[in-house]
Amino acid sequence: MQYIKYTSATNYKKATNIESSKSIDLVSSRYPVRLTDYYAGLIRQPDDAIWKQCMPDVRELEDADQCLDPLAEDILSPVSGLIHRYPDRVVLLVSNRCPVYCRFCMRKRLVGCGDAPMTEADLYKALEYIAAHPSIHDVILSGGDPLMLDDESLSLILSGLRMIAHVAIIRIGTRVPVTLPARITPGLCTLLKQYHPLYINTHFNHPAEISADSAAACTLLADAGIQLGNQTVLLKGVNDSVDIMRELMVGLLSLRVKPYYLHQMDLVKGTAHFRTSVRTGLEIMRGLRGHISGMAVPHYVIDLPGGKGKVAVLPDDCVIQGTTLHLRTYTGERVIYQDITTDPQE
Ligand SMILES: *Cc1c(COP(=O)(O)O)cnc(C)c1O
Ligand code: SF4
Repeated sequence: MQYIKYTSATNYKKATNIESSKSIDLVSSRYPVRLTDYYAGLIRQPDDAIWKQCMPDVRELEDADQCLDPLAEDILSPVSGLIHRYPDRVVLLVSNRCPVYCRFCMRKRLVGCGDAPMTEADLYKALEYIAAHPSIHDVILSGGDPLMLDDESLSLILSGLRMIAHVAIIRIGTRVPVTLPARITPGLCTLLKQYHPLYINTHFNHPAEISADSAAACTLLADAGIQLGNQTVLLKGVNDSVDIMRELMVGLLSLRVKPYYLHQMDLVKGTAHFRTSVRTGLEIMRGLRGHISGMAVPHYVIDLPGGKGKVAVLPDDCVIQGTTLHLRTYTGERVIYQDITTDPQE
């Protein structure tokens, strides 16, 4: 399969006037650096929220004690490029390339390395596997970024999946609306809408990523009837505050993008300097629920090491003692609620 012809890659040193240093060159030789003109254009000053997400940092190499693949994705892969962790859904890694290599990427071990898309032979093996497992109802295209593939390759994958009757839902995980919005064209939307029900989960991390261009990309997709969700990664120094998170989530909802997940950062090697405590994440969640539209509140999830799956965590606003619930409201008021109903099966 083929990647799109891609002209907007920019040299990060030129784009940001960064001093070339041996240590930075070392980082970029271990973990590839790539930027788009568009995304580099969102940087307002060195070390701002956009800069931190895309510019190499020596701390990536200093993080020695974590695992390359803590989620055991490689072990859960029955055929190349396919991850089967849950009974009814699989992830297909169709691309190794992204418009921008996020420094905190959970697939840091894969993206930009080798840089090859899935081969057609691997795709057919994955399709055969899915066809042979009727329990699989939901296929998630991921990578790397699936929308870095050209239209023909995307059609091949999507039409292949649609030939399998038990695949009800197709999802695409992509950061292209955020990092290369020009890729979202009317032509691409015409292609995608042939394969409904199709969901796209995009990946905005900061309100500064909501621009006229990224908003236009989301509008095109939403107008094609594609349900848009968003997965945000909780990042130290980027979005680990209630105010930023409120602005981001409410802003997304206005773009017809429904906040889906807020991810606790995985324990992936090379990313430790971005990780906040779970306590911080819970405080942020407490600052969202009740304070902004419930439609704009994502689930805060920890993807457990060892491939045990995602667990949603909540602030402890509910303590149950028998039939008495000790609840805490969004304003902090303590309220007792008696659960007086007994269900017949009890
Ligand atoms: C996150 C993930 C999914 C999808 O999980 P949902 O909670 O349904 O969004 C499926 N498979 C793997 C391996 C995942 O990491
Ligand atoms: S776009 Fe996604 S897959 Fe690509 S580098 Fe960023 S986080 Fe990783």
